[in-house]
Amino acid sequence: MKRRDFLKTSSTIAAGSLLVGCNESNRQAIDYSKVKEKKLAKQKSININKNKKVKLKLATSWPAHFPIMGTGVEEFVESVNRASAGSIEIKLYPKNTLIPALAVFDAASSGEIDIFHSGPYYWKGKNTAFSLFSGMPFGMTATEINAWMHYGGGYELWREMYAPYNLYPFLGGNTNIQMGGWFRKEINSLDDLKGLKMRVPGLGGEVFSTLGVNPILLPAGEIYTALERGVIDATEWVGPALDMMMGFYKVAPYYYSGWHEPGSILELSFNHQSWKKLSIEHQEIIHLAAETMNSKMLYKFQAENAFAMQKLQDLNVQFRSVPDDVIKSAKQGLQKVIIEQSAKSKDFKSVYNSAENFLKSSSSFTDVSLKRYLNIR
Ligand code: CA
Repeated sequence: MKRRDFLKTSSTIAAGSLLVGCNESNRQAIDYSKVKEKKLAKQKSININKNKKVKLKLATSWPAHFPIMGTGVEEFVESVNRASAGSIEIKLYPKNTLIPALAVFDAASSGEIDIFHSGPYYWKGKNTAFSLFSGMPFGMTATEINAWMHYGGGYELWREMYAPYNLYPFLGGNTNIQMGGWFRKEINSLDDLKGLKMRVPGLGGEVFSTLGVNPILLPAGEIYTALERGVIDATEWVGPALDMMMGFYKVAPYYYSGWHEPGSILELSFNHQSWKKLSIEHQEIIHLAAETMNSKMLYKFQAENAFAMQKLQDLNVQFRSVPDDVIKSAKQGLQKVIIEQSAKSKDFKSVYNSAENFLKSSSSFTDVSLKRYLNIR
């Protein structure tokens, strides 16, 4: 082909593609107007539903006005009420006022209540995979877990696995990175951990157990006395703000940095029928208010933890980093736990794989940006 012919041919092809492009966009325009018509029709039905007053029952696992978690849910309830001009009325039942703290999952599942606010790791007895939605030792930070949920397939998996329980979950907050806990004696090496009794639940507890620690579960109200009397040698709780309120610094002076809960999520989960019965407009109001609660709780944890950390410094708390050999063994211990749990549960394996793949991809950015930045700040 001569050069001139070639140019002619390519320009014909280019013009042709342009035309195809035009036809495509015309077709899209027609389809779009149909979508618009449908939307308008839907809008009419929404306006009818909007006037119907909806009453919902929400039970939580937290005491009334409990800092950050309890007050965050109270703000959510008020916000939904205001945004819906009073057409959604949520009656809030703090811990044990209607449903025992750890029975809220079953109560929403059966329809006794419409919504609960709690944390997915509490339900690992129903499905071990649920604990992974809360986060994992050495796993994702709060920002990463939110990104995984929204853009990495996390929400889809979570909703798929809650569906057999007739539940429809939303993110409802994040504790931000938790501290490693309070120890009565200093931990200088792995040997110092052997035989210690520590209050630590969840996957973190299982990893501690591979390090020779005896993980113990205690109700919140009994932890301080157990630590004071030496019934336990250490405890983890959440972070400086909530830990200070518990007074642990008075009886266990060594406060360690964390690795076992790098960004635990909280959940706002609906009975699926209660959710489906809501108008699209009401659903959108709740969806937006839940997303706001999810963000604000994280910000509040960050702010309150920082205030509390300064106070703890004034109280001469001894801040410590976890020794390197403990971290190395904890990472090996975690792998053991993952292999065991994955062999026992298909669900655990698929949630772990999804979260781990997202973490790997996220780290490719985080490791050369935030990680380096925090080291030089
Ligand atoms: Ca904790």
